[in-house]
Amino acid sequence: MLPGDGRRHNRGLILHELRRQGPQSRADLARVTQLTAPTVGDYVADLLAEGLVEESGRRSTGTGKPGTLLRIVADARHTVGVDLSDQSRFVGGVVNLVGEVVERRTLARRGRTGQAAVRLVTELTADLLAAAGGPVVGVGIGSPGVMFPEGVVQDSSNLRWRDAELAADVRREVGLPVHVVNDANAAVLGEQQFGEVTGPNLLLVKVGLGVGAGLVLDGHLIEGEGSAAGEIGHVVVDPSGDPCACGNRGCLETVVAGSLLREKLDGLDVAGRAAVLAAAGDRLGSALAPVVSMLNLAEVRLSGPADVLDEPFRHALVAAVKQRTFPLVGERFQARLTSTGRDDVVLGVAAVVLEHELGVR
Ligand SMILES: [Zn+2]
Repeated sequence: MLPGDGRRHNRGLILHELRRQGPQSRADLARVTQLTAPTVGDYVADLLAEGLVEESGRRSTGTGKPGTLLRIVADARHTVGVDLSDQSRFVGGVVNLVGEVVERRTLARRGRTGQAAVRLVTELTADLLAAAGGPVVGVGIGSPGVMFPEGVVQDSSNLRWRDAELAADVRREVGLPVHVVNDANAAVLGEQQFGEVTGPNLLLVKVGLGVGAGLVLDGHLIEGEGSAAGEIGHVVVDPSGDPCACGNRGCLETVVAGSLLREKLDGLDVAGRAAVLAAAGDRLGSALAPVVSMLNLAEVRLSGPADVLDEPFRHALVAAVKQRTFPLVGERFQARLTSTGRDDVVLGVAAVVLEHELGVR
């Protein structure tokens, strides 16, 4: 741990508790963070001086010792989050300290790739920074593709980025810390930190330009040996299926990608739509069944267009998992849309920025 990391970590713990639990006294904070009362007092004094927390009266009921309550000042700082997972537009939001999206902006992509797409990201980021109107601690970007930890997009075929120094390029323009995260990983973090989630394990599948998964186990994002954990889009589900951009045949992505499903659905009646969606849900469920069994997961959250991830899709997905797993594993299994909805990626990258810059997780 570097000098300063301990301080940042402990301040982060205090902010985290205030965000999760609402107003607390210094004694409450000492108990839940297991820091000593004088230590909590020092950090709280700093946080008060910086305007990140404020006093909010005294506790009037309950069994605890009466004490001055502290609460987080939701709009004392903001983060800017950008979501590049949609084929036709880049969307972004200004997020406050408690995970509320207070401003939104959208720019049409109009087919831009390569450096033109990087410039569009920078433009959207600048618009959001202007809209924030107050201190911004950093910028988070959720992008399709495999990322290197330094914010380099190793490979994002849809945006034609290969070893693109996205974080460095945007940082140079906006002068703030920039963090780049895979879009499915961002979505699972957004859902876990700001959504309706009860347990420490969460599997999320993002259906967009392609198909990708994000996995949190025991509260930790699983990134894998080459930062490519969750890249399930090129798992072959039909060896004699359609050719895929990767050179193989019958990849999951050739069956389940959102844009492709939209094309297939075009002009179909209700029954026809249901059949197409059920076939795609079944393929995804078949691909997920081994993962669900291996990790004994109780549900999958789905992120993406609600018309594609509709009931026939989810029903077929769950049926495929149940059919292919041991009853003890499969019988409780559910598929739901993310509770954070369209904001899941933006909230997830905001969470990454808050963790890196303020120690909050
Ligand atoms: Zn493929």
